[in-house]
Amino acid sequence: RSGRPQYLEVRNLRVVFDGFTAVDGVNLDVTQGDLRFLIGPNGAGKTTIIDAMTGLVPATGSVNHTGIEILGRKVHQIAKLGVGRTFQTASVFENLSVLQNLDIAAGARRRPLELLRRGRGTDPAVDEALEIIGLERLASKQAGTLAHGQKQWLEIGMLLVQNSELLLLDEPIAGMSQDERAQTGELLRRIGANRITLVIEHDMDFVREYATSVTVLAAGKVLSEGSVAQVQADPRVQEVYLGT
Ligand code: ADP
Repeated sequence: RSGRPQYLEVRNLRVVFDGFTAVDGVNLDVTQGDLRFLIGPNGAGKTTIIDAMTGLVPATGSVNHTGIEILGRKVHQIAKLGVGRTFQTASVFENLSVLQNLDIAAGARRRPLELLRRGRGTDPAVDEALEIIGLERLASKQAGTLAHGQKQWLEIGMLLVQNSELLLLDEPIAGMSQDERAQTGELLRRIGANRITLVIEHDMDFVREYATSVTVLAAGKVLSEGSVAQVQADPRVQEVYLGT
């Protein structure tokens, strides 16, 4: 973690599905500490960008994570390079406890020898993640019985114990209560302070409150970029959102 700040540099990213161009030459620059929100109408290509960056769909162009090209690598290799992603529906192991979920995620990081030496549940990174996501008191609770918001936080915790430095979050507050949204916003601020964070979000109140910068996507292209105030004042953005 020492040395120069980490960065994400996406250049001319392109994804074509059966002749349909879903992502059409996207450039993106996000630096460490930036809480960048990716917004835009349905079908703009937001999820596809994250899918391309995590190796789930083939793409052309370049995705550079702090000097390492990640495009063209396999899903697990990209995860090992510190790229962590959440989905709209949290994918936790429902039958296992909160602690076991974090331990499995940590196991993906540890080398086999380290696993042999260390007993389970004694990983300081797991304890730290439990505290950050605020689930210490629910550590032994079965993940399947958690509230919706808590599951999302557990999924984020799983990225933290995997040492993810670049976080790609797909609508992390979807379906959450107002309290859970605020808690998630504070969580993103805390973990985003020393990471690169790119968040897909529809809720503009949330974006206004927590974004340090915004990229507006429409029809597979970057339409506007800057602070929330800057993109809201952009006539091209108003046109896409209001049809004026
Ligand atoms: P957003 O996340 O901004 O709502 P998506 O990235 O999900 O948009 O989708 C962008 C476009 O690509 C949409 O028109 C969608 O229908 C299309 N698309 C997404 N995934 C596929 C796929 N696997 N096959 C074909 N078309 C797809």
